Amino acid sequence: MSQPIFEKIALLGIGLIGSSLARVIRREGLARHIAISTRSAATLARAEELGLGDSYSTDAREAVKDADLIIVSVPVGSSGAVAEEIAPALKPGAILTDVGSTKASVIAQMQPFMPEGVHFIPGHPLAGTEKSGPDAGFAELFENRWCIFTPLPDTDPAALEKLSEFWRRCGSNIDTMDPEHHDMTLAIVSHLPHIIAYNIVGTADDLEAVTKSEVIKYSASGFRDFTRLAASDPTMWRDVCLHNKDAILEMLARFSEDLASLQRAIRWGDGDKLFEMFTRTRAIRRSIIDAGQEVDVPNFGREAIEHPVKPAE
Ligand code: NAP
Repeated sequence: MSQPIFEKIALLGIGLIGSSLARVIRREGLARHIAISTRSAATLARAEELGLGDSYSTDAREAVKDADLIIVSVPVGSSGAVAEEIAPALKPGAILTDVGSTKASVIAQMQPFMPEGVHFIPGHPLAGTEKSGPDAGFAELFENRWCIFTPLPDTDPAALEKLSEFWRRCGSNIDTMDPEHHDMTLAIVSHLPHIIAYNIVGTADDLEAVTKSEVIKYSASGFRDFTRLAASDPTMWRDVCLHNKDAILEMLARFSEDLASLQRAIRWGDGDKLFEMFTRTRAIRRSIIDAGQEVDVPNFGREAIEHPVKPAE
């Protein structure tokens, strides 16, 4: 096994992201000691049952004591409270990072509490599923996914390189950008798709002309692909909407304009326009597959659901 990068890593929050980190840190031997902290005794007990760390505490200060790397993996709206709580216990020279899906808000919440000598490097791994909690994590989550850093103007390059090395050994590719650019980009590639999915699934749920059983029965026609996104954690997505408000509203405004134009083409029977648009968008999927961010399997790789294997009796 290769050399650890850190002596002690503290994971604050042990849900999908925190527990995936715990698993990959262990698998790759990235730390000699993994300290786990989460606010509820029940989640902590589950993390311990799963053997995710070396020490466990509901006291975040206890967990960060002597840690060289602290990774905060909690809903973005809780970042400030966590930073305030742990600040007095942080070791000088430690690197503190987060995984939050919005960056400008996380920086505004956490930076004021950062003690002198602690390297605060905001981050966001673009990797996830619709599941949450410590059971949902897996060591391969970050493989071939991007991890974006939004370093501050005074970020120490050596600390940034050390954290980059950590994420590379978790399997990720690294990119850096400024927080506002991150928030705008993520608004279109992640936040808007989730909001649209929440909305369409909500609309279908409200329909009275079509019964709920028909929506479920015929869902393979397209609807179910939205339900995966719309099954994502409500706390996380409430916080993303509240903490990336401006960028999301900007993207929603553009989306609504384009939707109105599509609506108009349908109303006026403008087949050329519809065909041109649907052709253009098809090419985007090809580029995502070419970039290795999706597999080229028909029907979104869900053959097994369409033709389920009968379980052994
Ligand atoms: P998760 O599975 O729901 O786990 C959340 C963790 O945060 C749990 O340990 C939970 O503790 C803790 N927590 C919840 N509310 C808290 C609060 N008010 N104060 C302190 N701790 C709190 O969530 P996740 O999917 O790992 O997401 C964590 C972070 O990663 C979020 O900021 C999210 O934006 C970001 N992210 C998520 C994804 C994704 O696809 N899920 C992808 C990239 C980044 P208890 O269980 O003990 O209450």
